[in-house]
Amino acid sequence: MPALRTSGKLEEAHFAVLDCGGIKIKTYNDIYLDARRKLKAAGVEDFSLEARLMISAAAGKSKEEFLRDLKLYALGDLEERVNDMISRRCAGEPVAYVLGEWEFMSLPFKVDKGVLIPRPDTETLAELAIKLLQSRGGSGERVLDLCCGTGCIGISIAYNIADCRVVLVDNSMRALRAARANVLRNHVTKNTTCIEADAKSAPPMLLGKFDLIVCNPPYVKTSEIDTLDKSVKDFEPREALDGGKDGLDFYRAIIPKWKAILKENGCMMFECGEDQAEAICEMFKENGFENAAPYRDARGVRRVVAGII
Ligand code: GLN
Repeated sequence: MPALRTSGKLEEAHFAVLDCGGIKIKTYNDIYLDARRKLKAAGVEDFSLEARLMISAAAGKSKEEFLRDLKLYALGDLEERVNDMISRRCAGEPVAYVLGEWEFMSLPFKVDKGVLIPRPDTETLAELAIKLLQSRGGSGERVLDLCCGTGCIGISIAYNIADCRVVLVDNSMRALRAARANVLRNHVTKNTTCIEADAKSAPPMLLGKFDLIVCNPPYVKTSEIDTLDKSVKDFEPREALDGGKDGLDFYRAIIPKWKAILKENGCMMFECGEDQAEAICEMFKENGFENAAPYRDARGVRRVVAGII
């Protein structure tokens, strides 16, 4: 029988080791306290939260299961896997890539280095799209998520508006693989499909017509990419960020080309950078859209521009 020595108190539980013939087995709490300490020492701001997220992800446990099981002994190679995650994080990798999954609109999305990590800012676009579809009250509306990446915008729409039909489009096969995995992860296979196409070219004929096109294209000015946070510029895909010299290349290509597949009264809705809303409204007007207007995100930034044709 292995000798059990437990201190009984959680904060001291790193002394609680199961002695299996010289091999010390740690509890989840021991591993948590170690992880917290290492992340804190590396200057990670949310060290407690990230330590919890990493251990839960490595153990395949929910937040509640992790807290419930703190006092249990963690068997297998859990500690090793958590240490690998900590090394990656301490080398500057965004926590979302380290975890392999990130939340958007309260839904889980698988992420890897081939796709941009879903941002809270982008929830403004998803929420506005959902509101528009609800207000139109129709059934079977067709929605296109162009430059879909993880698919977070289109999948949130498909999840919240059960009777709409969503097509996710990207030109990157790696992004489409992630999007497909997220369609399965969020159980929206019934009303969501993935198709490869290039946003800067004319839409493929087979797509048909849409009531709504949502799009979060790359919109960072090329010259500004190197000024972005290290976790963004060194880890996230440049092709999902780089919008050309003034950041507007994608809007300039998409508006005239993709308006051809909007139905009458159809809407095109973009996420944009802080100082871009006005220029995109102008493009909408030049291309025959009415009611082109910007919408603000939670920080008051004009983050979304929508136009109806
Ligand atoms: N919002 C992202 C950032 O600040 C950029 C996203 C994009 O280019 N679509 O890094």
